[in-house]
Formats: sequence, C-alpha cells, structure tokens
Amino acid sequence: MSATLLSSLPFEEFVSLMQSIDTILTDCDGVLWLENFVIDGSPETIDLLRKMGKKVYFVTNNSTKNRNEFLGKLEKMGFTASQDEALCTSYLTACYFQEIGFKGKAYVIGEKGLCEELQKVGITHPEIGPDVVNTGLVDLVGGFKKDPEIRAVVIGFDLHYNFVKMLKACSYLKDPNCIFIATNTDERFPMNTENVVPGTGCIVAAVEKCAGRNAVKIGKPNDFLREVLIKHHNVDPKRTLMIGDRGNTDILLGTRCGFKTLLVLTGVTSLEEVHEWQKSDDPEVRKWVPDYYLDRLKDLSGLLNK
Ligand code: PLP
Ligand code: CA
Repeated sequence: MSATLLSSLPFEEFVSLMQSIDTILTDCDGVLWLENFVIDGSPETIDLLRKMGKKVYFVTNNSTKNRNEFLGKLEKMGFTASQDEALCTSYLTACYFQEIGFKGKAYVIGEKGLCEELQKVGITHPEIGPDVVNTGLVDLVGGFKKDPEIRAVVIGFDLHYNFVKMLKACSYLKDPNCIFIATNTDERFPMNTENVVPGTGCIVAAVEKCAGRNAVKIGKPNDFLREVLIKHHNVDPKRTLMIGDRGNTDILLGTRCGFKTLLVLTGVTSLEEVHEWQKSDDPEVRKWVPDYYLDRLKDLSGLLNK
C-alpha cells in the first residue's frame, strides 16, 4: 500500500473520489489549527466542503474540554459547528458509559471538562485537582481509604497527574470488576517547542503498568467512534473520508473503520515517516499509511476550485 499525493490524481479520478464521499471526519490540532493558531486556509476549505453538501464532523482526542467548550474553541478558530458535529473524547467517553449502562461513582484522573461530560450521564467523582503529597509514603498509603462506591477508573489528560493519583487509581483497579477506561493514548503533544510535552498516553501507560491491566480506549484510533457514527449519526463508513495529521491515530482509525484517508503534513506525521511505514514488515504499521496526502488542508480547496 502506498500513499498518493492527492493533487497528482487525474482530475476525473479526483472528481469521482469526491463524489463517493458524503461524510468528512476531520482531526483538529494539526489539521485545522496548531495550539491556538489557525492553519491558513482551513476554515475556508471546511466551508467549501459543506457547500458541496458534505457533512463534516470535528473529531479530537483532546479530553480536557467539555463539548460546549470544544464548540467555543471551534468558533474561536473560525469554524461553525453544531453540537452533534463536535466529537471530543470527554463526550465520547461519556457515551461509552451510557452504552454499557454504567452510572455511579468513578475515580477520574482528568480535567474539569471530562468530569463535566461524565456528570451529565450520571457519573460522579471525588474532587479533582492537585492531590499533592505532603506526607511520606507510609502515611500516604496508610491514610488512603478506598471509597467502596467507586467502581470505575477513568483516565484523560491531567496537568496535575502525580504519584498519589496513580496510587489511588491502581488501588481501585486491584478489583478486577472495576471498569478501566482511557480517553486516548496520544504519546506526546505536537507542540512547536524544543521540549517534549507528554500526552495522555504516558499517564495511561504508567497506570496500566502499575495496575497490571489494560484500559478500554475510546478516542482515535479505536473503533468506538465508528459505532457512535453509525448508530447515532447514520454515517456510512464506505462513504466517509478521515482527514488527519497523525498515522497511528487518525489514519489508523480510518484504516480500521473502512474510511478513505487523507493525511495533511501540517502536524505530527512527516512524509519521510509515511515512506518508512510503507516499507515496514509489520502489517499493523502499514495501516498507518494514508490513501492520500497533501501538504496542507488548504490544497484541497485549490483542487475543489479547479
Ligand atoms: N489531547 C490533548 C490534551 C491535547 O491538547 C491535544 C491537542 O491539542 C490532543 C489530545 C490531540 O488533539 P487532536 O486529536 O485534535 O489532534
Ligand atoms: Ca491531530
């Protein structure tokens, strides 16, 4: 399998590809914006796709905002969206709990936005926040009494993640009946800095290692999203295009779900990496290779306006 530069497709093939698509799923950070900066031409391209009658969903692995806050960020960046078009992992995690019929108390490592979405579906949680260590280890362990009503552990991005939280989460997870959910597993943030910024996947990996069990994962590339899109939005996977900047989340989601895939090179994945993956002996790695790629989303509007 090899990735094709979308602009190198013969025009008739490009037209028939676009005609074969009703639904566009677009990643956010890395495709539409980078942190707080809009990627030039992305809002206009989304508008153009909508004018052509495509249904657009905004899909982010970011779990820190509730759905309304995510809509606010979309608007601030120049994208109009209705609530049903805004799919963030805080909301999707809440959908998962609804799906399995779980209500009650959970121990949450995460930010306010995640907790608010969980609360909407009847999941309460102890206070979130710093949870700092001001005792020695022996006092800490002895002083922590598990809440017997907590029957689930949820992990999302948490700026205040620390040893105490890991200890508490893993103590709850000692019970094999305790449900264990992770919003996403992105390893690092695609930030424009010399420094490395750890993502939710690092927290999830630490807790999984200590607990000796694996979480159910919700965000891209896991196919829970596909179930939500089919069940609640009537989406046909065969007529869907996933646009993303990352091979092992966005493109892998598309490959797993039977969507067509388009990589843009404004975020995490480089074309050099795609070329390496194409040559890989590992069939799982080859699933990160997109059908098509473009330097940036704006190039799509150039093709559509031809
Ligand atoms: N998780 C967090 C906490 C983030 O801040 C980001 C990017 O801003 C992501 C995940 C990745 O988001 P996306 O799926 O839109 O690239
Ligand atoms: Ca991204």
